[in-house]
Amino acid sequence: MVCCNWKALDKSDDFEPACGNIQPATVSIDAERMLSDTIGKQVLSEGITDPGQNMTQDSTNIPEQDNAERFFSANYAEARIRFVATAKKAGASLLSYSIDEETCPGLSIDIATIGGSNAPTLLITSGVHGVEGYAGSAIQFALLEQLMANDQFRKLRTVLIHAVNPYGFVHGRRVNEENVDLNRNFHASQEDYAGAPETYSRLDRFLNPTTRSRAFDLFYPQALLTIARYGQPALRQAVAGGQYAFPRGLFFGGKGPSRPARIIQEHAASWLSGADGVLHLDLHTGLGSWGAAKMLLEPEESRHAAWYAENFGAETIVSGGQTGRSAYEASGLFGLWMQRLFGKYHYRFATLEFGTYPVLRVLQALRAENRAHHYSGPGKKDYAKSKAQLIECFCPASPAWRSKVVQTGIHLIGRGYRAMSSGDS
Ligand SMILES: [Zn+2]
Repeated sequence: MVCCNWKALDKSDDFEPACGNIQPATVSIDAERMLSDTIGKQVLSEGITDPGQNMTQDSTNIPEQDNAERFFSANYAEARIRFVATAKKAGASLLSYSIDEETCPGLSIDIATIGGSNAPTLLITSGVHGVEGYAGSAIQFALLEQLMANDQFRKLRTVLIHAVNPYGFVHGRRVNEENVDLNRNFHASQEDYAGAPETYSRLDRFLNPTTRSRAFDLFYPQALLTIARYGQPALRQAVAGGQYAFPRGLFFGGKGPSRPARIIQEHAASWLSGADGVLHLDLHTGLGSWGAAKMLLEPEESRHAAWYAENFGAETIVSGGQTGRSAYEASGLFGLWMQRLFGKYHYRFATLEFGTYPVLRVLQALRAENRAHHYSGPGKKDYAKSKAQLIECFCPASPAWRSKVVQTGIHLIGRGYRAMSSGDS
């Protein structure tokens, strides 16, 4: 990987990860049944479009007037109940992996599989960055409704991994219970969990203040000075590419495989066994223009850019190393790890990103939330404000944004089914 030649700057091993006193709602059987019935009736009453249309046309199957906002859940517990209930209704086989019942009760990664093995497989994952699970879960929920309505989709296998980072989803964090960014946490070797880019180390005090927030935060002037000094692309790469030396810092990739990473590493082979080609779309938000969808290809995957452009539209594709790309190259990516492990299945992997706010606003929100998480606490004003701000940055309340994200997400996934059906992946 491009980012792995970092000088080891290990300086603190004293960080004590803990789930804290989280009280997520558990999935009550009655509530699940009620919700399942409600969703079922809703689907039936809304009418179902011609299944064949989805496989042959570019148009999304969700009508413009449909209130796509309804797919968004108020919190993780509700999202999980709806996911499980709708997956059952759609005839999916379900698996559930608890993160840690002792320290993180009620938190699990849930897997729904529809369709048999030995088929081209669409793998759709959500919530690797916990707070981004709001939008990812909404797209998965909408997709499940499509799968209930459309027999054509069932010729392929669909595997949905819901809330890879449930702790972050529950607590309005991008990271998990150990402050680990899971999309920097998938490495083949323990040696990769070390070091930080030199520029990140220099910026540690700015990025990760160790006090509660003050009335006048000089984030924006400091950020602009930093950009002037280093340039935006270099800065973005240094800050967001991942680091393994500052356990309370932003974009910390961990000291070893996280709990979700261990669950995935142990079980993923059984979820994908026999796949006749895999297309893995990992759903994310917070990078790019408002509501716009981009498929980000890692450098290794960029050799297939023509395949992606043909199937998803050239305007949607951002190749690794492409001039002017808004993304950065990160180490320890979940999808890349999967692709390397399951390469024998002709594994295609892209990050499907939906833009929200300008990058500095998002960084400011990440910094404020991380600061409040470590140095303030529940019940304090800055804590609540920082959580609300972060959720807005990764899942805007705007109904137009939400509708667009779900519709575009379903549209692109529909194109993914078509691409995989044609068998030339
Ligand atoms: Zn993300």
